[in-house]
Amino acid sequence: MNDKSKKTSHWDDYSFETQAIRSGHNRTHEDEHSVPIFTTSSYVFASAAEAAERFSGSQPGNIYSRFTNPTVNVFQERLALMEGGERCLAFSSGMAAIMAVGMGLLKAGDHVVSSRSVFGNSVLMFQNYFGKFGVTTDFVDLTDLSAWERAITPKTQFLFLETPSNPMMEIADIKAIAELAHAHDILLVVDNVFCTPVLQKPLALGADIVVHSATKYLDGQGRCVGGAVIASDELIEKSIYPFLRTGGATMSPFNAWVFLSGLETLALRMKTHCENAAELALWLEGQPAVRQVFYPGLKSHPQHDLAAQQQAGFGGVVSFELEAGQTKAWELIDATQMISITANLGDVKTTITHPASTTHSRLTPEARFEAGISDGLLRISVGLEDIADIKNDLSRGL
Ligand SMILES: *Cc1c(COP(=O)(O)O)cnc(C)c1O
Repeated sequence: MNDKSKKTSHWDDYSFETQAIRSGHNRTHEDEHSVPIFTTSSYVFASAAEAAERFSGSQPGNIYSRFTNPTVNVFQERLALMEGGERCLAFSSGMAAIMAVGMGLLKAGDHVVSSRSVFGNSVLMFQNYFGKFGVTTDFVDLTDLSAWERAITPKTQFLFLETPSNPMMEIADIKAIAELAHAHDILLVVDNVFCTPVLQKPLALGADIVVHSATKYLDGQGRCVGGAVIASDELIEKSIYPFLRTGGATMSPFNAWVFLSGLETLALRMKTHCENAAELALWLEGQPAVRQVFYPGLKSHPQHDLAAQQQAGFGGVVSFELEAGQTKAWELIDATQMISITANLGDVKTTITHPASTTHSRLTPEARFEAGISDGLLRISVGLEDIADIKNDLSRGL
């Protein structure tokens, strides 16, 4: 069609770090070094005949920025390469990307199996919105392969999961679940927000679709909201692009430009996020007020070996449960002086969240209990500040 987001084969020959910095940008006649921001809503055709050819899809090229934009195209091409996928489409948010997957693949009467431990709004998207149009969703334990299998029906279209999960940091065996999906001729969709392609490549492990909230690590500095879907050319062309074009949850060129600079430092940032998180997790394990620490890098994590196999690092998010409940958890949050009290994650700044009363507050208490999210649970997205300062700040309330 008239979408120029297809990756070029040229960059396949380069390593990940190089792709993250250079791929996707074809210099314009102005010879610019940095990717330009194309703030144009439409594009001009040389003739009436060319306009007709662009609209019919017989000639590639831009028509309107709801469909394609040159700055957004650079982001799409680069992220597709980094995830090892054929094609990427950018969206206005991570939730818009997840909605597009559902709108593109589901119809009334269809069924989805989702991990119980996914982002709160993803649960609401499946239950309240796809549910409203006659799609049913069953939620299963992320780590229980037989539960996934039992939940699949002849109407199931795809399996949906996040790994590590938010906020409990459980690990799904992507390869095993992909094999299960393919044995039933259905798709596996993986939300790769927590790991990013630096630490985990779901498509290489057998997943069919990767979704992203670019808002988190891809930006890395908490500036813009955005999302992406990465999949085969065929899936994007047939199922996702037509919905983007009509549904209109398009990424703005400015946001794409911010995310592009984020991608350039992603590998470096993830390395330090992992180092700081590993040190903090170990330290928290030694604190008397802490009942349990949830971090896949810890030997105490029940799926430590799987995480080590599947991921190139253990990530930057650490959750921990206090011996006492909500009052003490809130006290700890309020005693911090540096750490930001905000629900965002993946930022260079360390952030702290009380999931039960914020990100997961719209779930029923039963659903929270089943997901293991107690009132004493805190989630920290470990930033790139000096780890000694992060520990000191938490010590105040411990
Ligand atoms: C934030 C987040 C989303 C949603 O992304 P938005 O950009 O906020 O719409 C989806 N999945 C995970 C794991 C997230 O952390």
